[in-house]
Amino acid sequence: MHIRKRILVTGGAGFLGSHLCRKLLEEGHDVLCLDNYFTGARDNVIDLLDNPHFELMRHDVTFPLYVEVDEIYNLACPASPVHYQHDPVQTTKTSVHGAINMLGLAKRTGAKILQASTSEVYGDPKVHPQTEGYWGHVNPIGERSCYDEGKRCAETLFFDYYRQHRLRIKVARIFNTYGPNMHPNDGRVVSNFIMQALANKPITLYGDGSQTRSFCYVKDLVDGLVKLMCTGDDVTGPINLGNPGEFTIRQLAELVVEMTGSSSSLEFKPLPNDDPMQRKPDISLAKDQLGWEPSVALQDGLTMTIDYFRGLTTG
Ligand code: NAD
Ligand code: UDP
Repeated sequence: MHIRKRILVTGGAGFLGSHLCRKLLEEGHDVLCLDNYFTGARDNVIDLLDNPHFELMRHDVTFPLYVEVDEIYNLACPASPVHYQHDPVQTTKTSVHGAINMLGLAKRTGAKILQASTSEVYGDPKVHPQTEGYWGHVNPIGERSCYDEGKRCAETLFFDYYRQHRLRIKVARIFNTYGPNMHPNDGRVVSNFIMQALANKPITLYGDGSQTRSFCYVKDLVDGLVKLMCTGDDVTGPINLGNPGEFTIRQLAELVVEMTGSSSSLEFKPLPNDDPMQRKPDISLAKDQLGWEPSVALQDGLTMTIDYFRGLTTG
């Protein structure tokens, strides 16, 4: 028998959150989408506002919240370096105070709670590909630290609430994810390159473009989050969710130019401080514990994402 759950998605009006809200509604649940619209927008969920099972709430997770829910997906936090470095103190508060508030809510209601953690907890990794057992190589005082250390502290809080209060926790370490609904000015690499290519403007390559990333299509990623939430209480994570296909940023730039038929040239810019040189998830644990692996190849995902951005630019 289908059980309709009351599910809270923090950061629900953002890129990943809006896809997650849609999937949870499709699965027949009541969704409470919470967001302060720092990087997200009502427009990302505007088509859901007529759905009686969907509720949108403006709220900042750094303040306590009293609602009754069965499950919490804690996604609230800017994810693009440009945005999380804009107000670094607020970024750390969002991760740390946000985690404390949402864990407090989970404790009071008995809800299961999932944290959207990140591959950034590995920093500039010296172990490749990254396994969950690797403790990372993170600068505690750099420009990325507000995000990296905030997310690491949130993981600590999740595991302390698990040990101290027996909360039902799930921690997902998400690797670079892309797809429709990314904000065109989000500042992350996939949206930047596609928007630049569609406008035939120079593609801004930071450094020499030899640094690598592994790109996961949003549908695959959201499927992984839901599978993780559905596991038994013995599965806590942390668990890597990402696509193990590894590409240099230069390869990505060339692929986007080719696929858009753009006349853009490559423009080399300075590499930002502490920009990780390599990233690729080991997803053995996700395969074993969730029966999950990504199914959308980079070219197919890029085709759908380029179509989305083309639609925005041509109105
Ligand atoms: P996003 O910036 O599109 O979404 C984040 C959402 O959180 C936005 O809607 C924003 O307005 C909201 N938000 C920010 N601060 C808030 C606050 N204090 N209170 C309430 N809402 C707040 O980013 P995204 O890509 O959708 O990322 C979602 C989550 O997944 C983030 O926690 C991010 O760290 C994590 N993550 C994403 C990726 C990725 O590649 N997309 C990779 C690793 C981890
Ligand atoms: N990058 C780039 N040009 C851009 C945006 C990003 O070359 O216009 C590079 C960035 O330096 C990094 C990689 O692309 O090496 C991924 O950047 P993003 O901000 O998407 O995410 P990160 O994985 O660094 O958090």
